[in-house]
Amino acid sequence: EASAKVIDGKMVAKQIRDEITAEVLKMKEAIGVVPGLAVILVGDRKDSATYVRNKKKACESVGINSFEVRLPEDSTEQEVIKFISEFNNDPSVHGILVQLPLPSHMDEQNVLNAVDIEKDVDGFHPLNIGRLAMRGRDPLFVPCTPKGCIELLHRYAVEIKGKRAVVIGRSNIVGMPAALLLQREDATVSIVHSRTKNPEEIVKHADIIISAVGQPNMVRGSWLKPGAVVIDVGINPVEDAKSPRGYKLVGDVCYEEACKVASAVTPVPGGVGPMTIAMLLSNTLSSAKRTHNFQ
Ligand code: NDP
Repeated sequence: EASAKVIDGKMVAKQIRDEITAEVLKMKEAIGVVPGLAVILVGDRKDSATYVRNKKKACESVGINSFEVRLPEDSTEQEVIKFISEFNNDPSVHGILVQLPLPSHMDEQNVLNAVDIEKDVDGFHPLNIGRLAMRGRDPLFVPCTPKGCIELLHRYAVEIKGKRAVVIGRSNIVGMPAALLLQREDATVSIVHSRTKNPEEIVKHADIIISAVGQPNMVRGSWLKPGAVVIDVGINPVEDAKSPRGYKLVGDVCYEEACKVASAVTPVPGGVGPMTIAMLLSNTLSSAKRTHNFQ
C-alpha cells in the first residue's frame, strides 16, 4: 500500500506566490518600484508560447510587470541581441528571460551571454553557473527548476547535509545545476546520465533523488532505497485514451511504485512544475530588491 508523503508543489508554489505578492506591494508602497520581467520569444513553437503565456499570467497574479517581445522564426541573432541590450538598459526591467530553445540557426551561447548578469533571472549566464560551481562564490541567480527542487526539500524539512543524493540527468538547465546545488547543501552527489552503467545500482544508495531525464516511468520502485525522497522533474506525455486530449503527463519515476517505497514523492503534474514559475518570480523580485537596495 502507498505510504509516501506527497510533496505538494502546487500548494507550496501558491504559498510562495502569496509571499511574493505581499513583498511586491510592500516595495511599491515604500519606494514606488514595481519589479519587471521581460520575456523574449523567438519563433512559433506551441510549447514555448504556452510557457511564455503562463509566465506572463504568473507575473500579473503577483503584481510584477511583464514585457514581451515576439520575434519571427527567421530573425537574426543580432536582432535578438538588440532587444536584449534594450532590456539591459531599461531600468523598469529587472529580469530578462530568453525562452529556449532558440531556432537552430542561432548560437544559444552568444544570445545568453548578451543578458546582463544582474538581470539573468534564469541563471543561465556562464558567470552565474561558474559562481554556482565555485566554493566561496555566490551566483546572483540560481536556475529556477533546480532552485524549486531544493526549495521543496527545504519546505518539507528534508535534511540534505551529509545525505547521499543522486541526480539523474546532466543538462545545463536542470541536472547539472541541481547537482551543484545539492553539493552546496553538503550532500554527497552522484550524477547518472545516458552513459551510466547500471543506474539502478547507483540510485539504490540515494537518500534523495532528483530526476530530470525525460523518459516516462524510467525509475522503478525497485530502484529506490526504502524511505528515499524523490523529486521528479520529468514531464513526459504518454498516450491516454481516457483523456480528452488523448495523452497525459507522467514523470520519470513510476509514481505508484515510488509511493510504496519512498518516504516522500513529488507528483507529476503538480510537483516541480509550479515551483519553476514561482522561482522565476522570486528571482525577479530579488533582482529588483538588489537594484534598489531594498530589504
Ligand atoms: P535534456 O534532454 O536536456 O537532458 C536529459 C538528461 O537525461 C541528459 O543529461 C541525458 O544524458 C539524461 N538521460 C537521457 N536518457 C537517459 C537514460 N536512459 N538514463 C539516464 N539518463 C538519461 O532534458 P532537460 O534536463 O531539459 O529536461 C529533463 C526533463 O525535465 C524533461 O522531461 C523536461 O520536460 C522536464 N523539465 C521540467 C521542468 C519543470 O519545470 N518541471 C523544467 C525543465 C525540464 P546525456 O547527458 O548523456 O545525454
